[in-house]
Amino acid sequence: MVRVSGPETDGLLRQIFVTRQGFDAMIPRRAVLGRIVDPRDGTEIDEAIATRFQAPHSYTGEDMGEFSLHGSPVLIFAILDCLCALGARMAEPGEFTMRAFLHGRIDLTQAEAVRDIIEATTLYQAQVAARQRSGGLAQGIRPVKQQLIDLIVNLESAVEFADQELPVSSRETAAKRLETIRQQLQEWIRSFRQGRVIRNGFSLAIVGRPNVGKSSLFNALLAQNRSIVAEIPGTTRDLVTEYTNIGGIPVHLQDTAGIHDAQGVVEKLGIDRSRQAIADADAVLLVADTSRPPAKEDRDLIDQLRPLRCIVVMNKSDLPSRWSPGEKSQFADGQAWAEVSAKTGSGIDGLRGILLDQILGPAGTPRDGLLVTNLRHCRNLGAAEQDLSRAEAALKNGLSEEFALVDLHRGLRNLDEITGETGVEDLLDEIFSQFCVGK
Ligand code: GDP
Repeated sequence: MVRVSGPETDGLLRQIFVTRQGFDAMIPRRAVLGRIVDPRDGTEIDEAIATRFQAPHSYTGEDMGEFSLHGSPVLIFAILDCLCALGARMAEPGEFTMRAFLHGRIDLTQAEAVRDIIEATTLYQAQVAARQRSGGLAQGIRPVKQQLIDLIVNLESAVEFADQELPVSSRETAAKRLETIRQQLQEWIRSFRQGRVIRNGFSLAIVGRPNVGKSSLFNALLAQNRSIVAEIPGTTRDLVTEYTNIGGIPVHLQDTAGIHDAQGVVEKLGIDRSRQAIADADAVLLVADTSRPPAKEDRDLIDQLRPLRCIVVMNKSDLPSRWSPGEKSQFADGQAWAEVSAKTGSGIDGLRGILLDQILGPAGTPRDGLLVTNLRHCRNLGAAEQDLSRAEAALKNGLSEEFALVDLHRGLRNLDEITGETGVEDLLDEIFSQFCVGK
């Protein structure tokens, strides 16, 4: 698909798109079959479907044209070359979406959601982003902002028109209303704990002594639901990494090998990498083999890993266990644990459930409700919450309304930045440069 946007679109369409009925018969938003012909020398580039959109009823809010070609890069380069020769220019990454924002078709949170939809690697991620795309956070913020504005207006008028200070009772009411607003903001900020992993995924390092079944567990966890991410760059000789999908969350699995049997320099390097992988992971899967008696090395490992978030996996449950129930629970020591057989697959689903609990908390995957998934939004919400908290304290402590107002205005600006309603020029380049060209 090749898209053109801007006031010259119709002129370009007229020059390169040949249909039986002619350009003037092209009804906006209706696909038309025709031929793309280079007007410079009359060569036919491709048979194509073209759709014409008239401002403001288009993605960008400008006149637009879309050509569906036969997919060959050669044809796409030819039509791009032809369009550029006729006066168009290549779009910057994200420019279509940026124009949609600048023309007020969407707000910033929706623009960011478009990028998240494109980058989603699981259906669930795409669904969460789609909720945002259709207005999610922006819609939630609107009434909160309105309450804040009402409050500001009240206080401003008290400052402007009253000879005396606000009565204590109305200060108290104002502080109460602020508290309610802050509670809402705090709830959204808390949702970022889940929102962050839904948007960015979660990384797990698989750790354990040699032969406990780390690689087998790695493969068992990958066996179903491999997520749609191909080659991971930076895969090392003995550090295998892959993505899997647990409950719609992309989980980056790392199989750390050779952590204990360093001999040569190469292995040593591998071990350093393993340690790095463990340090970088959001959580560690510590694998032990219950078909052999508990070993001191297992204990040492779990002691070393204690500061990290750790899930204990007792593997080889298909073989007779050499661990007593007491030894098992002592080893897990209060951490989440599962008994599995990586060989037969028994217990793997249960382990996935435990992992999901660890990743998202016991509430599980949130299916609806507002979820903050973007760090930028979370930061703005946090800053706004602090502004309101200062204002609330000022009101409660009997300081002049002006003090509270300074913070309330600042809080409002922080909320406005989320949707892009004010003072965001410098943010725009940063946000839209992360898009791919053509969106
Ligand atoms: P790693 O060195 O920790 O990566 O261990 P591997 O995954 O290579 O497994 C070591 C050996 O244990 C292999 O022979 C596996 O087939 C075997 N193994 C792994 N998981 C299981 C299991 O659940 N049950 C049984 N019976 N054997 C297993």
